Amino acid sequence: MKTTIIGYPRIGALRELKFASEKYFRGEITANELESTAKEIRSFNLSLQKNNGIDLIPSNDFSFYDGVLDTAFLLNAVPERYTSLGLSTLDTYFAAARGYQGEKGDVKALAMKKWYNTNYHYMVPEIDDNAEIKLAGTKPFDLFKEALESGVNTKPVIIGAYTFLKLARYKGSKKAADFVQATAAAYSELLQKFNVLGADWIQFDEPSLVKDMSADDIKLFVSLYEKILTNKGVLKVLAQTYFGDVRDCYKELTGLAFDGIGLDFIEGKKSLELVKANGFPKDKTLFAGIVNGKNIWRNNYAVTLSVVNELKKHTDNIILSTSCSLLHVPCTLSNETKLADSYKKHFAYAEEKLGELSDIKKILDTAAPEDTEEYRRNAALHSEQRSGRNDAVREKVANLTDKDLTRLPAFAEREKIQKERFSLPLFPTTTIGSFPQTAEVKSKRNAHRKGEISDSEYEFFIEKKIAECVALQEEIGLDVLVHGEFERNDMVEYFGECLDGYIFTEKAWVQSYGTRCVKPPVVWGDISRAKPMTVRWSVYAQSLTDKPMKGMLTGPVTILNWSFPREDISLKESAFQIALAIREEVLDLEANGISIIQVDEAALREKLPLRKSDWREDYLDWAIPAFRYVHSGVKPETQIHTHMCYSEFADIIKDIDDMDADVITFEASRSDLTILDVLKENNFRTEVGPGVYDIHSPRVPSKEEIKEAVSKMRARIPAEKLWINPDCGLKTRGNEETVPSLKNLVDAAKEVRNENC
Ligand code: GLN
Ligand code: ZN
Repeated sequence: MKTTIIGYPRIGALRELKFASEKYFRGEITANELESTAKEIRSFNLSLQKNNGIDLIPSNDFSFYDGVLDTAFLLNAVPERYTSLGLSTLDTYFAAARGYQGEKGDVKALAMKKWYNTNYHYMVPEIDDNAEIKLAGTKPFDLFKEALESGVNTKPVIIGAYTFLKLARYKGSKKAADFVQATAAAYSELLQKFNVLGADWIQFDEPSLVKDMSADDIKLFVSLYEKILTNKGVLKVLAQTYFGDVRDCYKELTGLAFDGIGLDFIEGKKSLELVKANGFPKDKTLFAGIVNGKNIWRNNYAVTLSVVNELKKHTDNIILSTSCSLLHVPCTLSNETKLADSYKKHFAYAEEKLGELSDIKKILDTAAPEDTEEYRRNAALHSEQRSGRNDAVREKVANLTDKDLTRLPAFAEREKIQKERFSLPLFPTTTIGSFPQTAEVKSKRNAHRKGEISDSEYEFFIEKKIAECVALQEEIGLDVLVHGEFERNDMVEYFGECLDGYIFTEKAWVQSYGTRCVKPPVVWGDISRAKPMTVRWSVYAQSLTDKPMKGMLTGPVTILNWSFPREDISLKESAFQIALAIREEVLDLEANGISIIQVDEAALREKLPLRKSDWREDYLDWAIPAFRYVHSGVKPETQIHTHMCYSEFADIIKDIDDMDADVITFEASRSDLTILDVLKENNFRTEVGPGVYDIHSPRVPSKEEIKEAVSKMRARIPAEKLWINPDCGLKTRGNEETVPSLKNLVDAAKEVRNENC
């Protein structure tokens, strides 16, 4: 049995590529110096895989920014606004990735989108009617040759033709089907070149095959590969899928002339069933994704062996692989110097996963698994009782009933009670929570973390910032105030640190997009609230004003979605445990006189399953109730807000209403406001604050502009349900633009009110 992986992280174990790229962007190093860092990372990754016994090592999984963008350049699908700048190839590439502003012109970057159900983001290729798709780049060949020079015949990895055409955005009247000929020709040429170069295998990544596929999609997929595969020569072609199963196209996929088919047996809940029911072609190799490429836990060899042994009943040709690229996990445990071994022994980052593949191969090649040390050690690890169990929490969550998840009285009655209590003006104004996190705020927090300033000095500073923020909001004339979130670095980490059951890593960076990396905290044990998390700040802020002060929390689904989740209990169970902790905080805030509480669910949509048919059962059926559990215990006169960072929820609009918040704010300034029509059509019950300006830009919106946005909203939303606010938190902005923007917002609201009387 042989092993391979789908791809390896390319940022470098200590984020070397990030730092080198940023230096290059600032003009501090040359393109050659950047390239030499890149080369070192590639060569390091190659040796690592070799030393860990990986048989088929990928190449071209390296990227300076993003693999989809690489493919767009490879296929000549680059908008003219970038190529016409007259920059070097590398700088043209970065212009498309990040935008360019300089002596040669001023262009925005390509759009960026979430990569399937991960926190990685890809650049969306743009194809217009004049696009001439053809093989234009040499990167995959160069990197193949580079590896060959160090003695390794690698498996080049390229985004497949179907996935590429599905991900592209079509700017003119032509659609994906119009580019089949040209795309197939480009991929055919690619195959010919790799034949000449002497590659053994090539991997085409086709994750779009795990999504719901229409008859047209299947036709597109088949017509592309019928053409491409006639030109494969002696090269073996692998169709690599991941992030789910291929239930809509298993027949077509196995019927085409691929030599290998890569299936995901971790996230693909029907993968095994598909193989069992349909069999697997004798003349093909099954690349079995059995080591999780998305999570950080040690593989359970006994479970894996049982899957592989099932598969062996249907085929003799198996290569062991990861479930997806290891891009989505951190590089190596060896840099986690502070975490105790009792935790670390349960972890496997990318490097450790290479070792796992080799272990599994060895165990499979041995007559009885128990004969191997690797198997015995793994079995012992998994039979250990994990620390961090909290029976009280488990019991509470297990005994939840519908009653616990339902807030009473019903919405309409609460709305009446709250209108009376707060007697806010029509179109109340508010903000989303954070105020500018100035350099001063960040440096004080760092100093406190390092122990350079005392707790009391730090707390005194935060109180001073809160007082300034409250005074500012009163001066501007906002109706519902916030404390400004100066005590938080991040909306998940802050809460994680206050919760029992969470642990934090030191160097577990994962690429989010380009040079940006995130370090998700780890859900280790049962979650419970160790101590009040925000009460003291909210209570202090409320003491400074007669206006309502919004308590500010992050919701359970967002906290979970931005963490590495447990695998020994379900996501649903973890979500409810976190919900219980946040619920306690909500009730604590209420008991301490906070009358409006916002529970942010910025990432609610992020983990929506890739297939619509899985949305309900696998996700919404627990995610929405978990949110409801957070606030179902408050009094009718307490107002619950929530916030989302996007407005693409037309397709789950009923579920959003079912969260049963009293008010929801969301981003609507950048979208074309179509969401407002959807709200109207669906008779949306929750009061709404569609953001009236874009906080992601440093521009100050004029009063007129804001009034215009409000009047569009007014046309679709009943006056008594409409709030006026920016579209997200202000933490990334400066005071210079925040203050005038909010003044204009308040002035606009006042004028609209007068016009309404
Ligand atoms: N309350 C948070 C803030 O204002 C919300 C952040 C977010 O939506 N990402 O910063
Ligand atoms: Zn937001």
